[in-house]
Amino acid sequence: MVFTGNGKGKTTAAMGQALRAVGQGLNVLMLQFIKGTWNYGELESIKRLNPDFKIKPIGKGFVRSKLNDDETIKCINQSWAQSEEEILSDNYDMVILDEINYVIDFGLLPVDKILTLLDKKPERLHIILTGRNAHKEVIEKADLVTEMVEIKHPYSKGIKAQKGIEF
Ligand code: ATP
Ligand code: MG
Repeated sequence: MVFTGNGKGKTTAAMGQALRAVGQGLNVLMLQFIKGTWNYGELESIKRLNPDFKIKPIGKGFVRSKLNDDETIKCINQSWAQSEEEILSDNYDMVILDEINYVIDFGLLPVDKILTLLDKKPERLHIILTGRNAHKEVIEKADLVTEMVEIKHPYSKGIKAQKGIEF
């Protein structure tokens, strides 16, 4: 499954999907490729669903504005290795790779690596990839692709990130 597009709702759609899956007895893991500086509300909620829904830090938690620095680029391979290990562990029914589309779009992770891993994943495992600018080949490979289209966003009215809405 792929949630992409410039509108709000990609990460939260993935988490909504996870909520539904947990209720059906599925085990879910979310790996966050890009960390913000906020204290995200979902971290607290996901803790309450432990061990059915886990969230794991990946690498150092790349910050969007620093995606280009050398250290980030060095860490990407390590983070990718961690993702591969989790996906192939067969411990989960659903794995969310949050903001991975962004990382591919930035040229930090070759799309072939993702495509190869999707071929090798356990049959029962659902994988969700989120982030803007999903790669054409990822879109082709997916069974489901939804594009969030921005029609309005409070930001354009000058409303800053709101607690419980953005973080
Ligand atoms: P959410 O996590 O709320 O589901 P998202 O995953 O679709 O959003 P991202 O691209 O990951 O969005 O951006 C993270 C945050 O940036 C969002 O919570 C959000 O509200 C804000 N955002 C998204 N789109 C816009 C926009 N067009 N203008 C300003 N801020 C935005
Ligand atoms: Mg997001």
